[in-house]
Amino acid sequence: YNYTKKDILNMAEEEDVGFIRLQFTDIYGTMKNMAVTMNQLKKALDNKCMFDGSSIEGFSRTEESDMYLYPDLDTFAIFPWRPQQGKVARFICDVRRPDGTPYESDPRYVLKKVVREAAEMGYTMNAGPECEFFLFHTNDDGLPTTITHEQGSYFDVGPLDFGENARRDMVLTLEDMGFEIETSHHEIAPAQHEIDFRYDEALATADNIMTFKMVVKTIAKRHGLHATFMPKPKIEVNGSGMHINLSLAKDGKNIFQDSTDQNGLSREAYYFMGGLMKHMKAITCITNPTVNSYKRFVPGYEAPVYMTWSAKTREPLIRIPSMRGDGTRIELRSPDPSANPYLALAVLLAAGMDGIKNEIMPPESVDADVQSMTDEEKKRLNIEALPKNLMEAVSELEKDTFIQDVLGADLTAKLIETHKNEYHEYCMQVTEWEINNYLHKL
Ligand code: GLN
Ligand code: MG
Ligand code: MG
Ligand code: MG
Repeated sequence: YNYTKKDILNMAEEEDVGFIRLQFTDIYGTMKNMAVTMNQLKKALDNKCMFDGSSIEGFSRTEESDMYLYPDLDTFAIFPWRPQQGKVARFICDVRRPDGTPYESDPRYVLKKVVREAAEMGYTMNAGPECEFFLFHTNDDGLPTTITHEQGSYFDVGPLDFGENARRDMVLTLEDMGFEIETSHHEIAPAQHEIDFRYDEALATADNIMTFKMVVKTIAKRHGLHATFMPKPKIEVNGSGMHINLSLAKDGKNIFQDSTDQNGLSREAYYFMGGLMKHMKAITCITNPTVNSYKRFVPGYEAPVYMTWSAKTREPLIRIPSMRGDGTRIELRSPDPSANPYLALAVLLAAGMDGIKNEIMPPESVDADVQSMTDEEKKRLNIEALPKNLMEAVSELEKDTFIQDVLGADLTAKLIETHKNEYHEYCMQVTEWEINNYLHKL
């Protein structure tokens, strides 16, 4: 759409909106919001709603803590699960300084900046995520557990699939809010689900991922369940990934396709992959930003471990789905749903554009089973593993000045600091595993 303020005021009136949420996202990917009532709508539309940025983790240094929310009118949406009289609506907002300049550490700004740079070169990136999540029981205090009584697996149906009512409700609610849901199914692990919505341009997709998570969590709760996007909530079963399908368009046409190539891919597609591969280690710090993210990168659970690409195998880092023609795309399989979607898509697009600008070819594709190769073989083929833990990923970000520039100095410093702290705190824990393995014999 292309809503004007007047359209919004009319719609809000017609729809009997009573309450408006002004949403934005902090640097860790958590949605925040400030709510106003209908009689403040005009003020909100005039970008006059302010909050104290210093109270948002990772935002602003104190001397400039007043921040203003600039609603993006095209993100106007009504929450279908709230009352039908005095409805609740929301906007996704940009965060700006009192003088109206964008706040550089606003993740949405970071993505917009990269999108604009790509547009200046004539490119638009389309992105389609595949979000996986678990639905667990809550305890008597209403707190989340990792308990589930269901035993469903890939594509199972009820009554084996205890989550199916919740999942259907999620899909219908998302559709009500304008999402086009392409598929939804039970995933391989008990209580694990996946809902895929249609790809869109990068900014819309990042907004959609934020909305998606909010809806999934909200609807789960209404079914007495807790939805979690934690990457690896349980050992010995699959973790939850957020594979991202990516393609570039020029003048509205997918330019990743080239029917004369053996893989059906254009030069731009190869260069884009080359850029991704070049920066992948630092990118991993953004696409997999928690200690827990790295518990997913282990063999045996369909998650990538090595940095390879392939048009033939199912589990490389970058898979080329069989779709050709206008649907030609690459599927990056490392991201998980704990990532800040704005920052993730920003670094992916920027890295891909770096590949195109500098004509970076990716390494040869690897169609063989990497897991069965010896270390020497991997070395000879130049096959490297993804970072093994958050600290390794942080060190890679500290080395990659290109990705740092994309994120901006303040945001980079903040991420590095908080990730290091998180990792150190984690390393100091004495885990149940250690007690079980050492206490009796040492
Ligand atoms: N859950 C797997 C992961 O961690 C993906 C499984 C799949 O969709 N094939 O990435
Ligand atoms: Mg999938
Ligand atoms: Mg899946
Ligand atoms: Mg996939």
